[in-house]
Amino acid sequence: MSRILIVEDERKIARYLALELEHEGYEVDSAGDGRTGLERALSWDPDLIILDLMLPELSGVEVCRRVRHESDVPIIMLTAKDDVSDKVMGLDMGADDYMTKPFAIEELLARIRAALRKPRAKAAAAAAEPESAALRAGDLVLDPERYTVTFAGEPVALTKKEFDLLHYLMERKGKAVTRDAILNDVWGYDYTGDTNVVDVYVRYLRHKLDDRFGIRTIQTIRSVGYVFSYE
Ligand code: CA
Repeated sequence: MSRILIVEDERKIARYLALELEHEGYEVDSAGDGRTGLERALSWDPDLIILDLMLPELSGVEVCRRVRHESDVPIIMLTAKDDVSDKVMGLDMGADDYMTKPFAIEELLARIRAALRKPRAKAAAAAAEPESAALRAGDLVLDPERYTVTFAGEPVALTKKEFDLLHYLMERKGKAVTRDAILNDVWGYDYTGDTNVVDVYVRYLRHKLDDRFGIRTIQTIRSVGYVFSYE
């Protein structure tokens, strides 16, 4: 069931719209001012927004602009007056369609159906490229598929082992892991070298991440091991 958010301060219109839309089988929520509308648009994640232009608290154009920062949800603007500049501004801000009040409900319903049918760019992109397995901690992103690490978009060059160790620790973010566990899982059971190798590689990572970017990624837990604790 598609969810439609109505942002409209004229109660009679809002109630009428809500009844009609519910009758059509949509799940409906309403907001009576721009600020509440924006908040609901971002928290409820509707499939479509009907947005009046003249609103208290925050104008419809402003609501539209801010929603567009976060989402490509279809927006149909309602405007009481036949004001071309408002419409143009609304469309510039990313509204998909507009209707001038008073409108025929059948026409609005038809436009809602059309807007809901249109594939959404972001959703389509997400479907085409499933959310990658990238691990994130604040500005630090590790992509195990591409074998890349970036901090705030800046590439961080790591050796294979450094990468594996960081991957291992980031996967267990917030959980303490022992040196033995790291040694077994990252270096392998057949590793016969110095057990200090874990400490050495943690130092390498701290040098390449903490020292370079002024952050604290891997913390030492005395006589136990390490924890990746950067958020
Ligand atoms: Ca209004």
